[in-house]
Amino acid sequence: MPRPIQAYIDQDALEHNLHVARSHTSARIMAVIKANGYGHGLLRVAEALTAADGFALLDIQDAIRLREAGYHQTILLLEGFFDAADLEQIAEYELTSVIHSDWQIALLDAYPGRGTLDVWLKINSGMHRLGFTPDRVAGAMEAVRRHAAVREITLMSHFATADEARGVSEQADLYHDIVQGWRVPRSLANSAALLRYPATHGDWVRPGIMLYGASPFAEVSAQQLGLKPAMTLESRIIAVQQLRSGDEIGYGGLFRADRLMRVGIVACGYADGYPRQSGRVEPEAPGTHRPTPGGYGGAPVLVDGQKTRLLGRVSMDMLYVDLTALPQAGVGSVVTLWGEGLPIEDVAHACGTISYELMCALAARVPVRV
Ligand SMILES: *Cc1c(COP(=O)(O)O)cnc(C)c1O
Repeated sequence: MPRPIQAYIDQDALEHNLHVARSHTSARIMAVIKANGYGHGLLRVAEALTAADGFALLDIQDAIRLREAGYHQTILLLEGFFDAADLEQIAEYELTSVIHSDWQIALLDAYPGRGTLDVWLKINSGMHRLGFTPDRVAGAMEAVRRHAAVREITLMSHFATADEARGVSEQADLYHDIVQGWRVPRSLANSAALLRYPATHGDWVRPGIMLYGASPFAEVSAQQLGLKPAMTLESRIIAVQQLRSGDEIGYGGLFRADRLMRVGIVACGYADGYPRQSGRVEPEAPGTHRPTPGGYGGAPVLVDGQKTRLLGRVSMDMLYVDLTALPQAGVGSVVTLWGEGLPIEDVAHACGTISYELMCALAARVPVRV
């Protein structure tokens, strides 16, 4: 029998979330499925999102897999090509490439093909990650445009703070100034901008996280946005420990009981993708358990559908949950690490990270059920 850990990928939820995205925009939707579909599985996600107008990812081999699986949509390589051989494959499989740097224009200049390449020229509107600075856009545009191999050009940029109070106005204003003179398709919005800033939608929106059912905003829940979680990570309790006051749990003894406690050992650890940095010392309400100084734990978890919390430090293959208030729970109880009934954002927040990282980190050894 395999270990009881399992990830459940809900393709209906993915499809539902794409409908939610559609309900916010009339732009074409470029579903972002990089990082193995944010950890959900490339082809599994593409199948559920088959109504998308395009797919965006990084690896050319993944792009070819999609094409060979019969997807006829635009397939966009978000970092573009890395060498001349990539350019040939891009043409052969009719992929679309971002061009973000001069060295890529130089590779393009040396490429002999004709009339078959669609390019998304990337503008650095303030994030300073990829793209041409405003003063260089016209030159890059001309260089790409005059190449005999280039068919269509789209102008794109990416927001650094669309999910935050700061919003998008500085970058969006700059971008609009730059693209004004060009009559070409435009793409700017990630999930946060798709949901909050309709003026940024342009011709293509590029949602990622919302399709997987997580909110891009710290202060608005996925449920409030009408999104459904696509990934649920579940395991079971495989042992129970009774602790007396003073007993410590796990590596480093980072949690110490100050009374009688029941602790469940769960078959899930950092080698499954649960973050080791999950501990945070939370001040608790008076009268409840208080971790000792250096006490560790606190991330939320469901045991048989009831909310409790992690204790101690996560091991490679196991973690600890507090069963003191759940006397019915024991060996075999179902543990939900995140997903249905427990928003992944809440777990991520408690672990000092974001939902994206938890999804992407789901380990290959975790069996997936659809
Ligand atoms: C990852 C990514 C997106 C999607 O962002 P979300 O916040 O997941 O919606 C869009 N555009 C680019 C260029 C990206 O790298």
